[in-house]
Amino acid sequence: MSEQSPSGSRKPRHVPVRTCVACRTSGQKRGLIRVVRLTDGSVLVDMSGKANGRGAYLCFELKCIQQARKQKKLDRGLKVTVPPSIYDEIEQIATNEE
Ligand SMILES: [Zn+2]
Repeated sequence: MSEQSPSGSRKPRHVPVRTCVACRTSGQKRGLIRVVRLTDGSVLVDMSGKANGRGAYLCFELKCIQQARKQKKLDRGLKVTVPPSIYDEIEQIATNEE
């Protein structure tokens, strides 16, 4: 009798949910822009996807970015005031993507 215990097979599967804060769809096709609140409270557009902190995601869609700006969706997602320059930066990235 050398049955192995099934320990380890029950690890909770943590799938990171990456949905656009504006339209709530996941950006499977083109990916999402990641915006991160760093530990010091500053906000960063994280193109590398590697910055540490609380992240929120937006489509490369101007309408989503504009909606997020209008309704302060990123502010809510990150629980911090996102400066307008961040939205400008995201808009520019999305525009260049077109
Ligand atoms: Zn979207």
